[in-house]
Amino acid sequence: MPLQFASRLDNVETSAIRELFKLLGKPGIISFAGGFPDSAMFDVDGLREASAGALAEEPGGALQYGATEGYEPLRTQLAAFERHKGVAGVEPHHLIVTTGSQQALDLLGKTLVSPGDKVIVEGPTFLATIQCFRLYGADLVSAPIDADGVQVDRLEALIREHRPKFVYLIPTFGNPSGALLSLERRRRILALAVQYQVLIVEDDPYGDLYFGAAPPPSLLALSDQVPGSREWIAHCGSMSKVLSPGLRVGWLIAQPDLLARATMCKQFSDAHTSTFAQATAAQYLRSGRMPATLENVRRVYAERAQAMGDALQRELGDAIAFTQPQGGLFFWARLTGAGGAIRDAGEFARRAIEQGVAFVPGAPFYAKDPDRSSLRLSFATADVARIREGVQRLGQSLRG
Ligand code: PMP
Repeated sequence: MPLQFASRLDNVETSAIRELFKLLGKPGIISFAGGFPDSAMFDVDGLREASAGALAEEPGGALQYGATEGYEPLRTQLAAFERHKGVAGVEPHHLIVTTGSQQALDLLGKTLVSPGDKVIVEGPTFLATIQCFRLYGADLVSAPIDADGVQVDRLEALIREHRPKFVYLIPTFGNPSGALLSLERRRRILALAVQYQVLIVEDDPYGDLYFGAAPPPSLLALSDQVPGSREWIAHCGSMSKVLSPGLRVGWLIAQPDLLARATMCKQFSDAHTSTFAQATAAQYLRSGRMPATLENVRRVYAERAQAMGDALQRELGDAIAFTQPQGGLFFWARLTGAGGAIRDAGEFARRAIEQGVAFVPGAPFYAKDPDRSSLRLSFATADVARIREGVQRLGQSLRG
């Protein structure tokens, strides 16, 4: 008799993307497939100083068990970080530290989703969220997006029809969409939250990675301007994309009831996020290096995004359609089939691997009704020369 696993696993499969990653070991491959930041850009000196500072100044706190809610000096720094980004009145006790924002999403699934509950997500959305909410039995409903983020009229119709437990959005430089939700849509979504008394989960790991002008304020920041909306926002933040994903430092800001229950569930999950990582992150934020680090990552990713956009236009022409991202790590594109070129992104990905370049087809990012002509390209980890070379190979794969 084989080992019997929990029935909750029946709804979840290992991702198609993981299968693709197995092929990435091929020598010489240029990868646009990952969702990672570039490790060459980690502020190693700054983190070395911060971790040494944590051990020198607060060895007890940094190495001992800690509070589930998070290490107090880090909560203080994170509250200040959010206030600096326009979130008025955030105090340390309004947030808990999580083991990456991924854990915040898991805690939201655990605390809010009963089997069969409807949850609205964007189509497309972050794959791990789809998997995570499904694990708790969520019945996912997909709201369409365009270059300005989720389409609010459609979202309202879906809220009315499905009365979801919550709505999950990545409003700023979405993964995989790269889309930026407009200010006007943000205001309307906050109004919908109040009108329908529906929780909006705002996942925001990319908001600091903008290339030109700063994006509109987060839903959390804007909630101040829409009376009654603050309690309907749960905001997930992360150090992963700007500082280091290996630190596993994220945070969750939500109304006190939800935060208390998420904290209880976190106790059973990992007791607390690594105190050493938290003390390091706290020292880092206190050191004042963050603004320069942010400027550096913005500058480098902006250059790469520009190089990729130019190369895509040059090499693939009207066979591909995309909006130039204004931040984040991703291009989201659609194969148009122009001139008889290939339209199926899965087939395109297979051909591209043969030419030595990888990306991920878009279909797995849809909870429902996948668009098989869509694909995601990350410009984060290859330098400008490799981006040009990789896109040239993409052009060859498309024609070949
Ligand atoms: N949300 C989104 C939209 C992401 O893209 C990611 C990382 N790829 C996460 C959450 C999780 O990030 P972390 O747990 O490292 O904070």
